[in-house]
Amino acid sequence: MAKFIFVTGGVLSSLGKGIASASIGALLKSRGLKISMLKFDPYINVDPGTMNPYQHGEVFVTKDGAETDLDLGHYERFIEMDLSSYNNVTAGQIYSSVIEKERRGEYLGKTIQVIPHITGEIQERIKKVAKKDKADVVIVEIGGTVGDIESLPFLEAVRQFRLREGKEKTLFIHLTLLPYIPFSAELKTKPTQHSVGRLREIGIQPDLILCRTQTPLTDEARDKISLFCNVERKDVIQAIDVKNVYEVPLRFEKEKLTDNIIEKLGLSTSKKNFKDWQKWIEKSNSLQREVKIGVVGKYVKMKDAYKSINEALFHAGVINKTRVKLFWFEAEDIEEDAEKCLSSLQGILVPGGFGKRGIEGKIRAIQYAREKRVPFLGICLGMQCATIEFARNVICLKGADSTEFKPDTSYPVIDILPEQRNVNNKGGTMRLGIYPCRLKNDSFSYKAYGEELVYERHRHRYEFNNEYRQIFNEKGLRIAGIFPERDLVEIIEIPDHPWFVAVQFHPEFQSRPRFPHPLFVNFIKESIKK
Ligand code: GLN
Repeated sequence: MAKFIFVTGGVLSSLGKGIASASIGALLKSRGLKISMLKFDPYINVDPGTMNPYQHGEVFVTKDGAETDLDLGHYERFIEMDLSSYNNVTAGQIYSSVIEKERRGEYLGKTIQVIPHITGEIQERIKKVAKKDKADVVIVEIGGTVGDIESLPFLEAVRQFRLREGKEKTLFIHLTLLPYIPFSAELKTKPTQHSVGRLREIGIQPDLILCRTQTPLTDEARDKISLFCNVERKDVIQAIDVKNVYEVPLRFEKEKLTDNIIEKLGLSTSKKNFKDWQKWIEKSNSLQREVKIGVVGKYVKMKDAYKSINEALFHAGVINKTRVKLFWFEAEDIEEDAEKCLSSLQGILVPGGFGKRGIEGKIRAIQYAREKRVPFLGICLGMQCATIEFARNVICLKGADSTEFKPDTSYPVIDILPEQRNVNNKGGTMRLGIYPCRLKNDSFSYKAYGEELVYERHRHRYEFNNEYRQIFNEKGLRIAGIFPERDLVEIIEIPDHPWFVAVQFHPEFQSRPRFPHPLFVNFIKESIKK
């Protein structure tokens, strides 16, 4: 029988509710509990896959091919578990399944309403996750901020959930902000009081309040929150800003949050096992050496757009005992003078993306990395651009392109997947999720992975055009990885280069702090040598 923790957020967004939820997951897991996580997103999109990265940040892809919220990335990295489409549910999904049921006649005779039908469907999804993941504890994060119109049905649903399942099986945690006002040298609790007030208006009394602060929580602030928000003093938890997000679980542990939750939910746990994590965190905080890596992207002003890449580079740095110093370049800006922008870098990474904008800049950056022998990692669109660059500048196929950017190119070295030709609906129809990839024995990739068959996550519509394979081979490009069943090119490499690897999949989604991704690890290792 699972127990449930609901995490809500107040005052404003971007307080780190995802990291806080993931940290609680990691802590409970360290006590031997089986954890699962669920993120509710109150927007009407069925999934974030159709949103611009500027709107949403990264779209995290699960093993089973769901396009999900980037918080699922935090969850996977913190609880070290593969999640699935069950673990992210949007308002769009809830409404469309209720409407489908209505059309099928499942509610014949009834008026379909937010309460009880929408709220009922939300509760079903919570139970489904618990059952599917056979969890002892499910941590349910409710997206948005208390007070948003969109979040209301979700909050109402979890209020009912507690009523049905009982207090001993449910716990409400509310994350708020305590702004520091330098003028009066004070931490302000009023916004927290107001947001808890909003929660209580709709019938939810938080059991624990996590207070995001810049400076340590004072006794005075703690007392005030306790009194006005109706929680015990020990249930007001400091969530102080940290530079390294992986430290958050440690900080919470110091605040005795884990024991507090265990006691409140009456969980039976085994001995604490957090040493390895702790060691990793200490290691990640004491990196002496530095390596300069450039990321040439299309959405670099929105750092969240490359969340998992950011993390994967950090993880790879830690195992190489090196701090990865990142330099972000907007691809369009380096079209003119790649040399000037990139000359001080030790490694260059070109990540995924969609659409024509910035492509020429990416191609210039790749040309620079190839010619100047700078270690290079291309991911998805980055791999497609590397293919185009090689076709144009090494094979001399003038105007070679992807049909995504130039449908009538004379050399479509990247072309649409056959099964994508007749796809009209944009949502959830790319080549998504995990596929096997067989590696060539002597390749950089094989050396990194140390095994022949690997599984990686995908999210794309276009691919390497096999008609050009032979000429690429002849001119010195190595096809280093293949999806055997369909003979699709998954990895290209340039053997006559210190380290040039470009992959059609997204390795970043599988990197975890203690289990960094082998391609990132070797990319950093080679970059350090530069
Ligand atoms: N736009 C390219 C495609 O659809 C690459 C996608 C990506 O980088 N995720 O194939």
